[in-house]
This record gives sequence, C-alpha cells and structure tokens, in this order.
Amino acid sequence: MDNRSVLIAGGAGFLGSHLCKHYLDRGARVICVDNLSSGRMRNIEHLLDITTFRFVLHDITDPLDLGERIDFIINMAAPASPPRYQADPIATFDTIVIGSENLLKLARKAGARILQASTSEVYGDPEIIPQTEEYCGKVQTMGPRACYDESKRAAETLFYDFHHSLGVDIRVARIFNTYGPNMDPEDGRVVSNFIVQALSGRGLTVYGDGHQTRSFCYVDDMITGLTALMHSKVDIFDPVNLGNPGEFSILELAKIVLEETQSNSTIEFRDLPKDDPEFRRPDISKAQRLLDWSPEVPLREGLRQTIIYFAAELGRNAQPTE
Ligand code: UDP
Repeated sequence: MDNRSVLIAGGAGFLGSHLCKHYLDRGARVICVDNLSSGRMRNIEHLLDITTFRFVLHDITDPLDLGERIDFIINMAAPASPPRYQADPIATFDTIVIGSENLLKLARKAGARILQASTSEVYGDPEIIPQTEEYCGKVQTMGPRACYDESKRAAETLFYDFHHSLGVDIRVARIFNTYGPNMDPEDGRVVSNFIVQALSGRGLTVYGDGHQTRSFCYVDDMITGLTALMHSKVDIFDPVNLGNPGEFSILELAKIVLEETQSNSTIEFRDLPKDDPEFRRPDISKAQRLLDWSPEVPLREGLRQTIIYFAAELGRNAQPTE
C-alpha cells in the first residue's frame, strides 16, 4: 500500500478510525474526512502527528474535491446507532444518500475504487434466517428505522448505477452488528450500553423480553473482511455480507456481559422500540468463498477487549455510578 492514497469518509468514527490505522500501518497515505457529528476526535487524535495522515473536517452532503490523487475511497460516514440516526432522520437520509452520491462522483473523477459500508439493515425485519445476499428484505418506507434502512438501500442502488452506467469500480459490504474499542460509550448500541451499565453498577436495559437476536462481530475481524473485499483479486461488484454468524439473544448477551465484567448489576426490562428486528444472522458463505474470510474472535474474547477499552474510557471521564 506504499504511497497509495485512501480517503476514509467517517474516518473518526468507530470502524472508520480502525480503518485509518489499518492503512497507515501498511504505508498508505490516509485522508480522514469527518464532520464529527457522530465521529470523535478522540478516536484519531493519536494519528494526527503522522505525516501520512490528514484530517479534513467536512460534511459529505457538500461536494468534495481535494484536488489530489486518491486511489481508494471508503464510505463509512453515517450515524449507525438507532437513537443517533433517529434523532435527525432527514440529516441521516441526506448523509447516506447525498453523501454517497458526492463520494461516487469523487471516485469517478479520481478514477478511484470506492467501497460502501452498507448494512444488514437493508434486510429490515427479516423473514429468513440466516440472511443471504439474495434476500430482498422485509422493509418499509415508514417508521422510525426507515430513514436509515431505506437510505442505505437507496445508496446501494446509487453504487450499482454508478458502476453500470459510468463504470465506477465499486465494492459493497453489508455490515452486521460490530463491536469493539473506539465505540462511543454514549452511542446507545446494545454492546456499549450493557458494558457501560455493568461497569458503572447500573441496571442493564434489555428492550422487550430480550429474545430478539443479533450476531456480533469483533472489530478486528470486520476490518480484515472490509479490506479483503476492497482489495480482492477478483472484481466483486455485488453486495457481500460481513459479520459473525454466531447468533445470541439480547438476554444471553446481557448475562455474558454480567459474567465477563463480574458485575452485580441487575437486568431491567424496558419497552421494545418500534420495528426492532426480531432476528439477525448473516449467511457469510459468499465472503468465505470469494474472500477466504471468516471471523475468528469468539464473542467472550472480543467482549473482554471491549470491556478493557470501556473501563479506561469511564476512568477518563470519571463518570459517577448512578
Ligand atoms: N437493545 C437493548 N438494550 C439497549 C440497547 C439495545 O435491549 O440498551 C436491543 C435493541 O432493541 C435491539 C438489539 O439490542 O434488539 C440491538 O440493538 P442495537 O441498537 O445495538 O443495534 P440494531 O438494533 O441496529 O441491531
């Protein structure tokens, strides 16, 4: 990757910051573009002194032309947690749809390959388990999750159309739930909420009866998968699921977090949010076949690393126990 130039939109976010580090470690020049709406300087401040790293404060809903060579673009820019993306649904839609179009135009002009961080949310509340890339999803245009689900679907369509009509070299990863260091403690995701609650002695908030399932992928595995897709030997223009097929109910996750943190916190049941998907598990046979990729980090092991990270974050902010 020496001297190759990689633009990472959303580079100050959870996954984006890991991608910045991944490419810097491999000798690439990294341009991190972020408007810091959900990304955090804290995730990239240790990279700012590296001469091959550049941070650009920019909102991708505005066109972007940096006037320099760019070989690869990765679009990670979007608020990803339900409370965050629902807080300003129109901004969420604009960031994902208009932002994707602006980056696709940049990729076309620069002759760069561009990878879209799509999502398991394109499957909505799925009727089949596990979800294959061929499954069209059970989604709707209305409802609190639509601003994210439908805009991610529209963004995929833009990617395919820029490829078919204009020859842009695209990759589309459908990312399933991912966790690990650099998550925002206040993001509202289930893994960050449970660990922060357990470490600070507060009750773990299980929404609904906790029987809904998710499959949790550790961040290191996800970065390996994303970069394998970006640099695959064969061209893969169709979407590829990336995630860990290990499926856990939310109640199971709560119990595992309590064990791993050795916390005495209780479990508190809260109302299930509207349109909360009941099941989610990726079929990753396509990624296994085409990328020779499979996640390797078991849930408990990944959680241990994540607990160490959150414990340090809480210590830094000296948050009182409620
Ligand atoms: N969830 C929960 N307690 C929380 C946060 C989330 O029980 O404090 C549930 C949520 O209702 C969903 C699952 O955990 O069923 C995963 O939620 P998350 O927001 O992490 O991701 P997504 O719903 O987008 O998969």
